[in-house]
Amino acid sequence: QLERVGFIGLGNMGYHMAKNLITAGYKVTVHDIVDRQIKTWILMISSNDNTMKKFSEKGVPTKETPCQVAESSDVIITMLPTSSNVLDVYFGQNGLIESQNHLSPWLFIDSSTVDPQTSRKISMSISKCHLKEKKGYVEKPIMLDAPVSGGVPAAEAGTLTFMAAKICNNLAMAISMIGVSEAFALGQNLGIRASTLTNIFNSSSARCWSSDTYNPVPGVMPGVPSSRNYDGGFASKLMAKDLGLAITSAAEVGLESPLTSKAHNIYKRLCEKGYDSKDFSCVFRHYYSGKDE
Ligand code: NAD
Repeated sequence: QLERVGFIGLGNMGYHMAKNLITAGYKVTVHDIVDRQIKTWILMISSNDNTMKKFSEKGVPTKETPCQVAESSDVIITMLPTSSNVLDVYFGQNGLIESQNHLSPWLFIDSSTVDPQTSRKISMSISKCHLKEKKGYVEKPIMLDAPVSGGVPAAEAGTLTFMAAKICNNLAMAISMIGVSEAFALGQNLGIRASTLTNIFNSSSARCWSSDTYNPVPGVMPGVPSSRNYDGGFASKLMAKDLGLAITSAAEVGLESPLTSKAHNIYKRLCEKGYDSKDFSCVFRHYYSGKDE
């Protein structure tokens, strides 16, 4: 019998991940704060944008709080923006383990990109808890820090890579995206078409994920955020957050990380200019092309 899965955080990534679990036959229960935000701030969001509604219309149970999700789940998956969101879901009012010592789920998987301290704090708290009902295979609940790579396309296709080294991955990805964008800006200014430069890169030593899978130049590649006004995808504010986590971790081990600091400043600047929710590949348009429309 398949596990009952509770999924919390139905944004760009979580929406597709939860949908794939449902398609694979898991009994999924979902929760997102978006409903509460709509009620509280009376945002001008059409009902189509209400992600919880999209699930409930398909007959998927939706819950008001993380605590309620936990009560009806064997496994919990969280896919939330920041460390503080994750801590809120775990320890906040009506959270997953708020003041509870006996838990229904035996496995807690956090796939958000967060700092190591947050993961350790949750893992420690969970290790002190007990299972409400003993499951055959485990004695106590377990927590997995399991961030993902591959972006929205991989979330949709069910091909995400789960790892424990996410901050290092995103540090390299940010710098390579900036490098590719800088090279394309130079190439275009020298009169080389972006599509020509892409073909050259992708059959030579500059080839990388930012050039062959997630190209930042609008119109070069179909289906990527740059070809839809940088909407969806991986928000610049999340990249700024991850680079901040990388800088803190590097400082903790006494490592100099000059390019990480530079990349962090570039993404912070994009956020200050109002592109915080645009995909991080917008660094090409809004940092290098000087277009602030
Ligand atoms: P997102 O902002 O699109 O979605 C996050 C969702 O969490 C939103 O629907 C939000 O309403 C919900 N949420 C926030 N606080 C909540 C709370 N307290 N309780 C319940 N729901 C809450 O973010 P995303 O792009 O889906 O990214 C999620 C995580 O995955 C981040 O940590 C990000 O760094 C990481 N990540 C993203 C990508 C990507 O390409 N988007 C790729 C790999 C990893």
